[in-house]
Amino acid sequence: MEKTLENLKKNGFTVTRCATAKEAAEYLASTLRGKTIGMGGSMTLEALDVYDALAAQNQVYWHQAAPGPDTVERACNAQVYISSANAISEEGYILNIDGRGNRVAGTLMAKERVIFVVGRNKLAGPMSQALDRARNVAAPANARRLNKKTPCAVDGVCHDCASPDRICNALVVFWKRPYGCDTMEVLVVDEDLGY
Ligand code: SF4
Repeated sequence: MEKTLENLKKNGFTVTRCATAKEAAEYLASTLRGKTIGMGGSMTLEALDVYDALAAQNQVYWHQAAPGPDTVERACNAQVYISSANAISEEGYILNIDGRGNRVAGTLMAKERVIFVVGRNKLAGPMSQALDRARNVAAPANARRLNKKTPCAVDGVCHDCASPDRICNALVVFWKRPYGCDTMEVLVVDEDLGY
């Protein structure tokens, strides 16, 4: 883990560590006030149970808590965007696969701050293993959760399918912090969270 965190820092990412999901939620609530915040679809963020605490002191757009016609678009255009990641590679790269594209768009748009909340289970080995984790662990689990009619939802392995329900249509890899984002932060939680 230490090598990965060092490489994340070398790549321009801010690294914050928390021991538990509860501690991570308290950290987010304490550091974000008076902001517009977008949140991406994520079981990790659901596990943190942080929406209410953030919404008490910020304008928060998260379709998992308060769906609305413009929620996803507003989330992408918020000052701060919070997401998880499918994997973090040993080289300090951040990987996310997306079906619709809104979650990766939220992390790509110029922002004051993007925060990736990741459990220790998201820290993979080298890039090839991180990509394998994203494709063969995270994506099949998400397909199953979303009741998608895909082969991976049946056997838990990616078939690079041509299903209309395919949820893997975009892959974004952050090698380094983009120019337009003041702070890109990886909040590492020392627990297994999400897929
Ligand atoms: S490409 Fe298809 S089979 Fe592979 S993980 Fe995505 S949805 Fe599942």
